[in-house]
Amino acid sequence: MNIVQLLLTRARQYPHAPAITFSGATTTFEALADTVTRMAGALQAQLGLRPGDRVALWMENRPEFLESLFACWVAGVCVVPVNAKLHGREVAHIIQNSGAKVVLTTAYLEGALRDQMGADEAAVTVIVADHQEYRSLALGEPIVCHDAAPTDPAWIFYTSGTTGFPKGAILSHRNLIFMSLAYYADIEQVAPGQTMVHAAPLSHGSGQYLLPHLFAGGHQVILPKFDVRQVLEAFTQYEGVSIFAVPTMITRLVQCVEQMPDWKGDVRTIIYGGAPMYFVDLVKAMEVFGTGFYQLYGQGESPMTITGLTRREHALAREAGDAVHLASCGVARTGVEVRVVDPETGHELGPGQLGEIVARSDCVMAGYWNNPAATASALRDGWLWTGDIGVMDEQGYLALRDRSKDMIISGGTNIYPREIEEVLLIHDAVSECAVVGRPHGDLGEEPVAFIVCHEGKDVSATELDELCLQHIARFKRPRDYRYIESLPKSNYGKILKSQLRTLLKGEAS
Ligand code: AMP
Repeated sequence: MNIVQLLLTRARQYPHAPAITFSGATTTFEALADTVTRMAGALQAQLGLRPGDRVALWMENRPEFLESLFACWVAGVCVVPVNAKLHGREVAHIIQNSGAKVVLTTAYLEGALRDQMGADEAAVTVIVADHQEYRSLALGEPIVCHDAAPTDPAWIFYTSGTTGFPKGAILSHRNLIFMSLAYYADIEQVAPGQTMVHAAPLSHGSGQYLLPHLFAGGHQVILPKFDVRQVLEAFTQYEGVSIFAVPTMITRLVQCVEQMPDWKGDVRTIIYGGAPMYFVDLVKAMEVFGTGFYQLYGQGESPMTITGLTRREHALAREAGDAVHLASCGVARTGVEVRVVDPETGHELGPGQLGEIVARSDCVMAGYWNNPAATASALRDGWLWTGDIGVMDEQGYLALRDRSKDMIISGGTNIYPREIEEVLLIHDAVSECAVVGRPHGDLGEEPVAFIVCHEGKDVSATELDELCLQHIARFKRPRDYRYIESLPKSNYGKILKSQLRTLLKGEAS
């Protein structure tokens, strides 16, 4: 089944319901379905695209991203969404690696794209959403939706890749339909009139979770970027709002609402994940927004769907002061098997034992595009090896430690930075922090903490050291505290520990 059938079904059922709002203008389901079936016709007739071809979508958050995405699917074409904040050089790599024949982009990004495409430019058609040639696609002859096989590639998701060039996880129609069904089973049911606000890039998690929400008849409000005030405004303007946010976005929303004592918004569900949400930040967030939180643990290779912590579990754990479950990322999602295994042998480990997390379900990618070596290492005997280190308790709650590459090995002992970071964040002067390993002659590595203080507050290294000694083993405490203005972050808001490590390595050499 072609996933876009879900949109076409809803357009017949609720033609006049609002589908997308951007900058005050709303498109109904009927109008959206009309545009995308016409555009699909034009993609085939005018641009010569055939089922199985790839089209890259390099756009900021705007409705044309969605029109293009759905039109490609109606035409049987696989999309390659690319984050608008990537460098033109990275985008050129993705276009070349995926073999995209067409790039749909915007006037704002076009220059950066053409600068980098070089000799490839002749082989690729670039269509700019702000120009007439894009608008004329919507005047094409409508076509019947391509009858896709469940295994046909629908979305090639280039992993954010904090180092090196990104790899393209191939997500099939079945993968995305499974992701959507798991959304309804585990997170929430959606009805027309309910709203999802998109402030995070549509090329990543926000765009993926737009699918189940829209396909159930929900109303998608697109914001051009993450702007704290605009998000809070949307929470007050619309009813029953859901949002997908990475933890750093939630922390910024909380900090802003704390300055607005009279603020009242209608938040239904805040779905968060993609990076660690620290315990103290989560408790504060629940004080401000209530307990409508859902935490997901997933990755591009198993989109949004490995484990989850439900709103009920948030409420119960908060009431019971159960820090262990609140700091976990929940249990296996419906239809997903999750194990913790020995990274060397692949044998399943028992409760309480640390190992690599592996997962198996219909959500797991088919492999990496054009990269058999990376595919063979990530997919073994039907299991996805996530590269994340974690531990599961007797009840099946999974606690993530770190990416295996973020672990610090000091004097032969493993230190998990997250454990130290959770402690440092207890201090109310600390706004953000990141702990990484610094090369050390005898020990191999030693932990160093990078600290960002709240405006107008500070804290000494001695105080932080005492705090660590109160909570964690002596050998785990940072040997150095570095105070910085802000932490380096990726385009998705993830902290780039690789940059901090490079800085320390440079100093050491
Ligand atoms: P990406 O493929 O860019 O979505 O990144 C996926 C990675 O983000 C995972 O492999 C984890 O390392 C991290 N991640 C995802 N969800 C969580 C979560 N709930 N808590 C901590 N880290 C997470």
